[in-house]
Amino acid sequence: MDLAPFPASISPADSAADARLERLAELAVKVGLGLVPGQELVMTAPVEALPLARLITEQAYKAGATLVTTLFSDDRSALLRYQHARDESFDVSAGWLYEGMAAAFRGGAARLAIVGADPSLLSEQAPGKVARANRAQSKAYRPALDLIADSFINWTLVPFAHPAWAKAVFPEAAPEAAVKKLWDAIYAITRVDAADPIAAWAAHNANLKARQDRLNQQRFHSLHFRGSGTDLIVGLADGHAWMGGASHAKNGVYGNPNIPTEEVFTTPHRARTQGHVSATKPLSHQGTLIDGIRVRFEAGAIVEAHATRGQAVLEQMISTDAGARQLGEVALVPSSNPIAKSGILFFNTLFDENAASHIALGQAYSKCFVQEFSEEELVERGANRSLIHVDWMIGSPEVEVDGLDEAGKATPVMRNGEWVD
Ligand code: ZN
Ligand code: ZN
Repeated sequence: MDLAPFPASISPADSAADARLERLAELAVKVGLGLVPGQELVMTAPVEALPLARLITEQAYKAGATLVTTLFSDDRSALLRYQHARDESFDVSAGWLYEGMAAAFRGGAARLAIVGADPSLLSEQAPGKVARANRAQSKAYRPALDLIADSFINWTLVPFAHPAWAKAVFPEAAPEAAVKKLWDAIYAITRVDAADPIAAWAAHNANLKARQDRLNQQRFHSLHFRGSGTDLIVGLADGHAWMGGASHAKNGVYGNPNIPTEEVFTTPHRARTQGHVSATKPLSHQGTLIDGIRVRFEAGAIVEAHATRGQAVLEQMISTDAGARQLGEVALVPSSNPIAKSGILFFNTLFDENAASHIALGQAYSKCFVQEFSEEELVERGANRSLIHVDWMIGSPEVEVDGLDEAGKATPVMRNGEWVD
C-alpha cells in the first residue's frame, strides 16, 4: 500500500480557486457555526487542510472569536501506530484531550471539524486492532460527543478535498485532476458557487424548515420503506420532532451543524423497527468499506446482518454495545438534491448520507423531540443510547416511503425519490 500518494502541498494555485476556498471558510464561520463575538473556537483538521484551517481562523477572528485552537491529524502518523505500536496501544485513547475539549465546550467554545480523509486508510490493517482502537476512541470521546450530540454548543463540519479522498472518489483521474474534480463537486454542493452563497443557504434552510414543519404536523407513528430488498417499518419515538437545516444550539446560537446538509431527520423508537432492509450505497466506516449491507430487525434490534464486503467490520460495529444494533436516527432525503444529482459516491458520510434517505445505528439526537427531556425521559420515549452513530443509506428513487398512523393507515411521503406533497 502506498502510504503517501501525493505531496501535502495542494493549496489551490489559481486565484479563482483561492476565492472559492475563502468563500467556503466564510460559510463555515457565518452559516455553519454562526460564531458570535466572544466565543472560543476549537477546530480539528487533517494537516493537508492547513490552507482552509488558516482561512477559517481568519474568518473566526474577524467574526469576534477570542481564541482559535486547531488540532491537526496526520494519516501517515495514524498508520505508524498500526505498524509499530505495541499491542496495548489499541486500547488507549487520549481521554485527557477529549475531557479538555468537553471543558472548552462547557466554557462556551464552538466546535468545527474539517472533514476529508482517506476512506480506506485502515483497510489493510487488522480489523481487530481497528475495532479496539475505534472502541477506545469512542469511549474516550464520549464527554465531548455528548455535548455535541445534545447541541449544547454550536458546531459544524465542513469538507476539504484531501488528495487521498479525491483519489478514492475519482480513481481514474490523475492526482491533481482528481483533487480539482472533488473541489468542483464540493463547491457546487455546498453552494459556494451560488451568486450569493449566504443568501442561497438562507433559502435552502427555509426549504428544509418547511419540510420539517410539514412532517411535524403529520405526526406519523412510523415510516414504511418499501423497495427491492427492503420492507422496513421504522417506529418513531414518542414525542419525536423532525429537524433539518439550521437550528438553535442550547447556547442560543443559530447555525448549520453540517455543510452540506440536505436531510430532514428524527429519532426512531429503539424498540419499534421491524423487517428487513438493504443498503442502497456502500458505507465507508472508519477507514474501511462495507458494501452490500442487508439486515433484519426484530423488535428494534438487528438479528441478522450480512455484507458482501466488510462483513467482519459490520459485525464488530454492531457488537460495540447493546445500542449499536438499534436505530438512533431516520432521515428523509429527496433524490433531486445536488449531492444525489452529482451521482458521485463520496465514501464520506457527510456527503453520502445527504444523497439518500438513511438510518443510523446507535446514539440518538436528544434535540429531535418536541421539548427538552431528561436523559431518563428520553430513554422512556424510545431514544437509543450507544457509543456509535453510523449512518447508512437505504433510500433511492425505487424505494417508496409511507407514513403510518398508529392504526397503520398509510399516507404516501416519498415516491420516485421525491416528496409527494
Ligand atoms: Zn442523517
Ligand atoms: Zn446521522
